[in-house]
Amino acid sequence: MTYDPGNIFAKILRGEIPAFKVHEDDSVLAFLDIFPRAPGHTLVIPKAPARNLLDVEPADLSKVMAVAQRIARAQLTAFDAEGITLTQHNEPAGGQEVFHLHVHVIPRVAGVELKAPLSYKEEMDVLAAQAERLKAALAA
Ligand code: AMP
Repeated sequence: MTYDPGNIFAKILRGEIPAFKVHEDDSVLAFLDIFPRAPGHTLVIPKAPARNLLDVEPADLSKVMAVAQRIARAQLTAFDAEGITLTQHNEPAGGQEVFHLHVHVIPRVAGVELKAPLSYKEEMDVLAAQAERLKAALAA
């Protein structure tokens, strides 16, 4: 269980592939999931390398969770959410597909089921507009 710097989120952190970023500071990056389980589905990751919950430094985890809370609050207004679901997967047996720690922050509306993971790839222009809405809510 070692960290592989070739993972796709490490490439996003290095700027090698694009992402719909909604928050960035010295320690944490948040960006939209391109296969959203609901509109506004956001991923929050530490900049420091960590494979998942099992190896992350507690201080980095704490910074990730503080940003996840800020994202959740902003999603309430940006996406008219009535609730928020957090998920976080560890190792293949735990459902993890990308091996850089990430917390899913997913806006919820009563009675609307989550889409299945990886079942729907959102249009790029829709993601761009949603990122702007979330950034505006974060700045408010
Ligand atoms: P997990 O099963 O917790 O490892 O989830 C990995 C997540 O990464 C999935 O929800 C994917 O939709 C998402 N994902 C994969 N590639 C990208 C990408 N290039 N940009 C944003 N999200 C991605």
